[in-house]
Amino acid sequence: MSFNKLGALRFVEENDVKFVKLQFCDMFGHMKNISIPSKQLPKAFEEGIAFDASSIDGFGVIEDSELFLFPDPTTLCILPWRPQHARVARLFCDIKTGDGNPFLGDSRYILRRTFERAKNMGYIFNVGAECEFFLFKTDQEGKPTLNPSDRATYFDSAPMDQGENTRREICLTLEQMGFEIESSHHESAYGQHEIDFKYDNVIQSADNILSFKSVVKTIAGRNGLYASFMPKPLSLTSGSGMHINMSLFKDGENIFNTQIGNELPLVAKYFIAGILSHIKEICAVTNPIVNSYKRLSSEFEAPKHIAWSYKNRSCLIRVPYTTKGYNRIELRSPDSTCNPYLTLALILSAGLDGVEKKLELMPALTQNAYTLTEEELKHYTIDLLPQTLNEALHIMQGSEFVKSILGEHLFNNYLVSKTQEWNIYNQTIHDWEVRTYL
Ligand code: GLU
Ligand code: MG
Ligand code: MG
Repeated sequence: MSFNKLGALRFVEENDVKFVKLQFCDMFGHMKNISIPSKQLPKAFEEGIAFDASSIDGFGVIEDSELFLFPDPTTLCILPWRPQHARVARLFCDIKTGDGNPFLGDSRYILRRTFERAKNMGYIFNVGAECEFFLFKTDQEGKPTLNPSDRATYFDSAPMDQGENTRREICLTLEQMGFEIESSHHESAYGQHEIDFKYDNVIQSADNILSFKSVVKTIAGRNGLYASFMPKPLSLTSGSGMHINMSLFKDGENIFNTQIGNELPLVAKYFIAGILSHIKEICAVTNPIVNSYKRLSSEFEAPKHIAWSYKNRSCLIRVPYTTKGYNRIELRSPDSTCNPYLTLALILSAGLDGVEKKLELMPALTQNAYTLTEEELKHYTIDLLPQTLNEALHIMQGSEFVKSILGEHLFNNYLVSKTQEWNIYNQTIHDWEVRTYL
């Protein structure tokens, strides 16, 4: 269901909704919210709800800290795990300044701006995200441990797969919230899972990623487990990615579709070439934490080579085989700790840049990228993704492309905060150093 303001107010009235959570995310994609009694909703729609921006990471300074949340009525949804009398609904919000202009640090606004640009070129960008996650046991105090909830591996079934009931409950909850679930399965590592939901337009998909993570964490918690989207929680086993499947629609048609075999049309090739050309610059956003690079540098089906291929899962971009006309490309580097709005804005812009410039695409790589020698990498001119957050931040810092999409406010604040994060990590003595060097 997609509501306008009047429809949303009527729905709230008729469905015993007593509280509304106004949701948005900070610069890093962490979900934030303020709860208002539903009686305040008309006011929120008309005047916005003020909040102290100086307390949100990267949002503002103390001298000029008042921002306003304007709920987007199309995102109204009841939270199924809250009481079913005097119910709780949520709405995603757009953020504005006191004079009614969009707040330039609002990542949803940045994605909307990119979405509009694509729309003016005649394109709708559709995205399906695959967010992998781990379920860990909790200790007697309810704190997370690093013990996976089971010892099952890829596609195992119950009783090996002990996450089945939790996944079932997650799927049912998401369906109640309007998600169309496509499949769910146990992933390769002990305690690792994946639940896939249907693609949507890019803004809705970014909202969906935030909702998905909050549902997974909530339902896991209700089952005595701890869900983590950390990219690489355990050494020597698979990490968790957030593969981004994407297609471009023009006049209601998927223009990545093709008549002849599975060979991609030219526009899809330009789009891939655009992403390959900008991937290093956007990596500090698509893979934003120190730990992201532990996943990218350790193989286990996570990419480190800037190459593409039709089938082979060792490449950054894969073109999955499809028989039903849903041709798409899969970008395999991002992980779920990213801000989905900024990530999708940058990926879409990178792809469109390739389309506008008609960038030539390198040939598809047919070999396993992990086994290529130095000479072969040189021969195929295959570059590597950044190896650390520090390297990714340096590359981003020099990128006029990223600055132009994120805008100066967000670009600068992001780099300052993330550089601080890297410095703290770098100054910390880690267990491995003590064990190895003491
Ligand atoms: N877990 C792998 C990753 O880190 C992906 C496995 C798969 O292809 O689903 O990206
Ligand atoms: Mg997977
Ligand atoms: Mg995938």
